Amino acid sequence: MSMKGRVHSFETFGTVDGPGIRFVVFMQGCPMRCIYCHNRDTWNPEGGEEYTVDEVFERLKKYISYIKFSGGGITVTGGEPTLQADFVAELFKKCKENGINTALDTSGFADVERVEKLLEFTDLVLLDIKHAVEGKHIAITGVGNEKIKKFAYYLSDKGIPVWIRYVLVPGYTDNEEDLRLAAEFIGSLKTVEKVEVLPYHAMGEEKWNKLGKEYKLHGVQPPTAQQVAHAQEILEKNLDRYPA
Ligand code: SF4
Repeated sequence: MSMKGRVHSFETFGTVDGPGIRFVVFMQGCPMRCIYCHNRDTWNPEGGEEYTVDEVFERLKKYISYIKFSGGGITVTGGEPTLQADFVAELFKKCKENGINTALDTSGFADVERVEKLLEFTDLVLLDIKHAVEGKHIAITGVGNEKIKKFAYYLSDKGIPVWIRYVLVPGYTDNEEDLRLAAEFIGSLKTVEKVEVLPYHAMGEEKWNKLGKEYKLHGVQPPTAQQVAHAQEILEKNLDRYPA
């Protein structure tokens, strides 16, 4: 009997969470409390549905030829997938045995000792950097960023390729000086292949409303294309690209 994990949902033809066409698994549960979370319904670790590793793999198998032909793979996201690190490790192991590329989309808020095994089977980490300044990180996510930095340095030391993702929220994460600090941190990592600035959008607000929760960013407008390009330029400034 293969291991069980709690899954929020699946997406069969993802194109934005790693290279090629991705089979995307959204895991249930998250230890962070991002004020702009667009997957608010993934927070509860008891939610979602239970699946075995084999059941998830059976679903993926139907799309295997598309995935491989496109140079894609599986991406496990959330919620926070490292909360169920052993399950994801088993799933990735099975994928690797079948020649499928594996990507982990994570906030990095995880104890390295708990995820070592998972990272052995991970080809690429999509790492969210929420904010470079500790106090502001706490204000936005409810937790500090020390653990995330440690996690990032572990990836760097182990030679695991990383794509950095940074959600640009006007008035919250777009301060120039803060972006420069984030760029310094990104530049200190050795395995970053690219940086993606993701413009904030309010599409998650409806989920907060449905759950009867107050959405603190109500009325905040998405950044302009120019603001996104400017942030991108700053964040990439110190980047010494790791070969893809
Ligand atoms: S880490 Fe992701 S899932 Fe968790 S609260 Fe933040 S945005 Fe939502």
